[in-house]
Amino acid sequence: MRTIRDIGNLKDKKVLFRADFDVPLGSDNAILEPFRTIKQKEAIDALVSGGARVVMVAHIKAADSFKPLVAQFEALLGHQIVFIEDIAGIAPALAGEGSLFLLDNVRRWPGEKADDPEFARALAQGFDAYVNNAFAVCHRDHASVSAVAGLLPAYAGPLVERETGELAKALTAPAAGKVIVMGGAKAETKVPVIKNFLDKAERILLGGVIVNDILKAQGKDIGQSVADEDPQRLLAGLDPADKRLVMPQDYVIDQGRILDIGPQAIASYQEHLKRATMAIWNGPMGMFEDERFAAGTAAIARSVAESDTLSVIGGGDTIAAVDRLGMLDKFDFVSTGGGAMLAFLAGQELPGLKALGYYG
Ligand code: ADP
Ligand code: MG
Repeated sequence: MRTIRDIGNLKDKKVLFRADFDVPLGSDNAILEPFRTIKQKEAIDALVSGGARVVMVAHIKAADSFKPLVAQFEALLGHQIVFIEDIAGIAPALAGEGSLFLLDNVRRWPGEKADDPEFARALAQGFDAYVNNAFAVCHRDHASVSAVAGLLPAYAGPLVERETGELAKALTAPAAGKVIVMGGAKAETKVPVIKNFLDKAERILLGGVIVNDILKAQGKDIGQSVADEDPQRLLAGLDPADKRLVMPQDYVIDQGRILDIGPQAIASYQEHLKRATMAIWNGPMGMFEDERFAAGTAAIARSVAESDTLSVIGGGDTIAAVDRLGMLDKFDFVSTGGGAMLAFLAGQELPGLKALGYYG
């Protein structure tokens, strides 16, 4: 992959910059989790201080428009931002003052998700270079991630460089001593990762909804627990009796629902993590948003952080849970990717990385 160091002289270069500002919002549009936004700062600082004029393109799911969030982004990034309402506004904005610009939520235009070449051409118009610094969307075949990279000289931003480097290490490290912790919801995104890691890890410790799915597939009564419609299909090709898969021995149950792993499971998972040389964790162990069901997640966070283990974590909710515990700086690598991290760790080719020449 070519990186922003390969752009050469940045002075007055017009750079189309795929950023990642898909932040969760609270009431009155307060950004609840600044982690992803702050991770964009290094690249923006480098480009702007080199004299480039940078138009940031990104999406957000929690709001229709970036407009009410611009002041918060300015504060988090330490730069003034010129907001651009429409694609047609890019050229006039670049003819004016300013070095950092933000186009409105790129998913406002249907061409984005459709990876529409026409839309990509309109986006790329007038730029000298394209930089992708949004690792978390690299698993998407969207215009601002994929099609646009074919229209301009394309470079990986420092975040994409670091994410791919660290996650590749996690993927290729020897199986002996490697422990995976898998929880959360969205089991259909987790099963391929579990399958891929079976022969690349020593143990895979399970929590969250996937556990309910396995119990349900085994014909056990899981009461009102959250589970997938057809767990048998979802789990096809995965043998729950595989010695490398570890199910919790006990649970926290409330009103007929399994909502966290129990104290015995916590103790056993802590033992596994103590012996690990590398730990990769995605997905809360339980419904951590409710304090009563947050103990499993907090215990995993602590034992991964406190061991000498090389630790990699990722996933929007996992990060939010760890941040709530004030422990985000206790891990060796925190990925900004949820789905993208899982797809990468499942050994899939990510369209956004492919467009940057990552796979050669
Ligand atoms: P991440 O964003 O870290 O990848 P996910 O989005 O897959 O994680 O899953 C996070 C969600 O999983 C949380 O909202 C949490 O409440 C939920 N969850 C975990 N365990 C359970 C459970 N046993 N029952 C219901 N929801 C659960
Ligand atoms: Mg999530």
